[in-house]
Amino acid sequence: MSFRASIVTLYPEMFPGPLGASLSGRALEAGTWSLDTVFPRDFVADRHRTVDDTPAGGGPGMVMRADVLARAIDAAAPPGDPRPRWLLSPRGTPLRQPLVRDLASGPGVVLVCGRFEGVDERVIEARGLVEVSIGDYVLSGGELAAMIVLDAVVRLLPGVMGNAESGLSESFEAGLLEHPHYTRPAEWEGRAIPPVLLSGDHRRIAEWRRAEAERLTAERRPDLAARGDASGIDKPRRLR
Ligand code: SAH
Repeated sequence: MSFRASIVTLYPEMFPGPLGASLSGRALEAGTWSLDTVFPRDFVADRHRTVDDTPAGGGPGMVMRADVLARAIDAAAPPGDPRPRWLLSPRGTPLRQPLVRDLASGPGVVLVCGRFEGVDERVIEARGLVEVSIGDYVLSGGELAAMIVLDAVVRLLPGVMGNAESGLSESFEAGLLEHPHYTRPAEWEGRAIPPVLLSGDHRRIAEWRRAEAERLTAERRPDLAARGDASGIDKPRRLR
């Protein structure tokens, strides 16, 4: 069964965009995953096709209407659709690798992309939208965030990555950042590849890589080890 992504967006022309290239593009063509978009303006009755209105209580900008958005969400995922419904939002749960793995192991996702100041709070409650953030900064819309979610998910789908093992040693999979990489030439601008990597001694190589991963994580991301959200190698994969 393939992973099915439905995107609720005012800018359907942005999709598949970058997801149509490289690894995710080939997987899309191969049918490993599928993508459809739902355009909220198609669900507006009035002549001007208004999807937004001024904020109750005043203030700058516009807010996406609950009624219009709910109709679009219901069209994307009729009652009984088992897929989780996410709203991309800077207020959401931070997107991390365990959450990505969890999503990739399911049937798909409905991604609702906000625009303007955001969406009417009532649609979040009424449609059980899970708010997910891709980082502590503000984008102009949820579309690029939705693409980031899908890029991270699709590479984990069965058969997408050439070497399944490369997934397991990667950054975040063991609560660690990945070790450094080198390739030919053996010497470049006076810099040599660390000799242990050319030794052919697999045990020593594995030890060196582990030590480097620990060193880099302690230096750059002490929060990662402390948080203990490792998945994959030595912890159960499922979040819930
Ligand atoms: N007024 C809002 C920001 C709105 S930005 C606030 O201060 O919280 C417009 C839309 O862009 C949002 O509705 C959301 O869908 C998307 N967006 C912006 N930043 C995001 C982030 N860090 N992660 C995920 N989506 C984001």
